[in-house]
Amino acid sequence: MPVIVQKYGGSSLATPELIRSVASRICSAHDSGNSVIATVSAMGDSTDDLLSIASQVSGMPDLRELDVLLSTGELQSCALVAMALKDMGKNAVSLSGAQAGIRTDSSYGKAKIADIDTSRILGELGSGNIVIVAGFQGVTNDSDITTLGRGASDLTAVALAAGLNADRCEIYTDVDGIYTADPRLVSKAQKITTIGFEEMLELASYGAKMNPRSIELGMVYQVPILVASSFNDKPGTLIHDGENMDTKVGEIRNRVRGIATDRDVAKITVFSVVDRPGIAAALFDPLAESDISVDVIVQNASVSGTTDLTFTVKQSDVDRAMKVVEEVANELGTTNVGKTENLAKISIVGTGMQDSPGYASNMFRSLAQADINIEMITTSEIRITCIIGSDHVAKAAEVLHGAFELEKSE
Ligand code: ASP
Ligand code: MG
Repeated sequence: MPVIVQKYGGSSLATPELIRSVASRICSAHDSGNSVIATVSAMGDSTDDLLSIASQVSGMPDLRELDVLLSTGELQSCALVAMALKDMGKNAVSLSGAQAGIRTDSSYGKAKIADIDTSRILGELGSGNIVIVAGFQGVTNDSDITTLGRGASDLTAVALAAGLNADRCEIYTDVDGIYTADPRLVSKAQKITTIGFEEMLELASYGAKMNPRSIELGMVYQVPILVASSFNDKPGTLIHDGENMDTKVGEIRNRVRGIATDRDVAKITVFSVVDRPGIAAALFDPLAESDISVDVIVQNASVSGTTDLTFTVKQSDVDRAMKVVEEVANELGTTNVGKTENLAKISIVGTGMQDSPGYASNMFRSLAQADINIEMITTSEIRITCIIGSDHVAKAAEVLHGAFELEKSE
């Protein structure tokens, strides 16, 4: 019997009616002759609600207790879906992350899955149950509850699919797939039918609405992932690495696959830093220790023995980052630190860009023609990213979508 892991996002489970509708989708997958494991997110915005209550009770909520609290959101939806399934005459069982055997390290709030002991799930499937697993959580070796990071129910799904050697992983959400650009910004955005892991990872890391760690895991364990809507039966987007004729033809026709945008960006510049070995480490080590992830980094050529170092962080991390930088600035031989907020990243992504010149110049020219100033530039082999003012993001996305003819991409 094929084994399918499904995941339903919070907006697909926001009301009792939606929970029943998810349950009937799970029923259909089961009726089609599959062994079904479904993992669920917390209903609607309930994770945000729990975070808000916690912040009213404590200025700095204890991380262990916060994870116990946040895990309850997924426990609720998990029990409710199992209940609805039973009401529909199915054999079903709900399992917490711990019961499902999802073992993690003990970094509360962003725990990493160490391994999955699938024996309980396999036992339940063996006795004819549909298994519903609470997403986004696990348990340490000391039996403490952990959560895996915001949006990480996707990760639970892909990890379960990998651990169970499932035939496929289906992520159901409120959009019907991955688009060539955010359809809210670009009216001509097209749904992508199939995409490789590498391209999807870049799109997800630079703004497309999917948990990048789940793509990474799918890539490592070669789990094909379908992203589709829970609100309709449209086909969705399949993320996989199979040799697919269509993908190949598509790549030749259009080598930029998509545009990713992210408005949550701020930049910090440390001016006139002394230019000697160890300076970058002295700056970035403390940021890493404070768990602030730094993205684009530019160091200017040194003038008279000093250099300017500019980097971006999430807008939500900028104040914490400024504090850290100001603390080490003296050590770096400067006191001059500045920040710019309300920035955005816009990226073009496509494996076809490798070794083909012209993509960068087309991107920069198109932005210039639209009168959009580029603040910083960074690239990977299959991505070019520009930092621009966040007010320009919709315009930039539309212009680039046209420049790379993405409306013709499928
Ligand atoms: N409920 C969690 C969150 O909102 C996990 C998830 O939705 O995937 O971040
Ligand atoms: Mg959620």
